[in-house]
Amino acid sequence: MEILLSRLPARLWRGFVDLVTPSLCLSCSAPVGEPASLCVTCWGKLKPIEEPVCDALGTPFAYDQGEGALSAAALADPPPWDRSRAAVLFEDEAAKLVHALKYRDRPEAGLLMARMMARAGRRLMAQADLIVPVPLHRYRLWKRRFNQSALLAQRVSQLSGTPWRHDVLVRARATRAQVGLDEAARRKNVRNAFAVCADRLASVAGKSVVLVDDVRTTGATAEACAVALRKAGARQVNLLTFALVQLPSKPHI
Ligand SMILES: [Zn+2]
Repeated sequence: MEILLSRLPARLWRGFVDLVTPSLCLSCSAPVGEPASLCVTCWGKLKPIEEPVCDALGTPFAYDQGEGALSAAALADPPPWDRSRAAVLFEDEAAKLVHALKYRDRPEAGLLMARMMARAGRRLMAQADLIVPVPLHRYRLWKRRFNQSALLAQRVSQLSGTPWRHDVLVRARATRAQVGLDEAARRKNVRNAFAVCADRLASVAGKSVVLVDDVRTTGATAEACAVALRKAGARQVNLLTFALVQLPSKPHI
């Protein structure tokens, strides 16, 4: 029987597997037609970020201000990266997907998230030489078993054809988890926490690098990573995340 099954053509085999294990919505576990997808109801709850957006912060604009336009927030406090895009706003449904990837051992959520990221970040990917994930602390990597940002970077690489490397950025020192810290504390917590691995300087110098993470909250972690990539001589650093947390905008006096 085993020999017989192993000789089945791959397509037939996949059909057989689909029959015995129907695909389930990544969010609510209702049966769905395609693997790594959402049911119509859950899909409708996602809040995709569509162009036009601020070129530096990826935040939505109410109307088109032309290619490369920057928001008041980006002009007042320019981020250390050049451009950024996020696929969706971080709300309930996006949080469930992030959670499914991070903790519920449904790595196929990464495929859907990466498809949305590749679409949202198509302008960044068009110029990119290298994709680099935000690294995870070794202890957390062991606890969680894998780095969700690395998985997203790998998937975006497969979809876009741009190479990725997981070993470019390293944690130069241990940091505490960012959850529960305010913006200033987050910045302090991760300042100088990242560096480009000495063996990888050549793969970064003069290159256009896309930094990948699952969620951007204050951006403190991404900022620290972008600074490290710049120090290593990257020509351009762009940030691509799955979700963007929209914080209340700071008053600019
Ligand atoms: Zn659903």
